Amino acid sequence: MPELPEVETVRALLAQKLTGKSILSVELFRAKNIVTDPEEFQRVLPKKKILSISRRGKYLLFHLSEDYVILAHLRMEGKFFYKEENAKIGKFDLIVLHLDDGHKLVYQDVRKFGGMGLYKQSSLLQESALSHLGKEPFEWKDEDFYEALQKVKLPIKEAIMDQSRISGIGNIYADESLFAAHIHPRTPADLLTLEEVSSLLENARRIMKEAIALGGSTVHSYQSEEGINGAMQNELLAYDHKNAPCPKCGYPFRKTVVGGRGTTYCPICQKSKARPFFL
Ligand SMILES: [Zn+2]
Repeated sequence: MPELPEVETVRALLAQKLTGKSILSVELFRAKNIVTDPEEFQRVLPKKKILSISRRGKYLLFHLSEDYVILAHLRMEGKFFYKEENAKIGKFDLIVLHLDDGHKLVYQDVRKFGGMGLYKQSSLLQESALSHLGKEPFEWKDEDFYEALQKVKLPIKEAIMDQSRISGIGNIYADESLFAAHIHPRTPADLLTLEEVSSLLENARRIMKEAIALGGSTVHSYQSEEGINGAMQNELLAYDHKNAPCPKCGYPFRKTVVGGRGTTYCPICQKSKARPFFL
């Protein structure tokens, strides 16, 4: 699943191609993937101009003329393709926006979990999924995030993957950030010290910035665009490295499950910290 750096990479590529273009018409091959009213989506979008594209957490926002915004989420396998108007439509192409430059923007989704919604800019934050989206690692202050975690008894990995608490971190960057910060993924969130929380946020920001610079990670079938792949997967130190030697201590990485997600950690560098029985 694309995380913050991958979505940021897609945003930058789409912004290059789409800024200033107008939408001529919309084809919906699977109306279910429009989370707002699909008829309104098809009726309102023609003649709207794409002014800019921004990102919140793992969401993409297409800012349009007349105060409209398309909110899109790629979920597991969603991809955007910018194709020539005469290119063939494939089996998994669900939404097509025809543009005024002889191209079309195709949203393809093999798993069909992603999609789009149409909102007015003025009510976007109240009415869309953004209303319960937490701040990004880049926005949280260390002390405030530490305070927020004082009420959370979940394992820290589960706590940082909850998008309503902190947005943008998924399985890859959770494993990487926890490894870099020497924190065991199962540590109850409220047992972390301020120093540990600071280190976690600092490492998450550093690793995500690096990932954005490298164009994100290409994992499974995820591609930001045809022919363009991120290089971050070559830099990942812990994620998916089960049984490989830890680059810090040489001990083999272990794999376990935390919050239902496969989790790789080094049992030596990421010491487990259990809750004392009297707490
Ligand atoms: Zn180690």
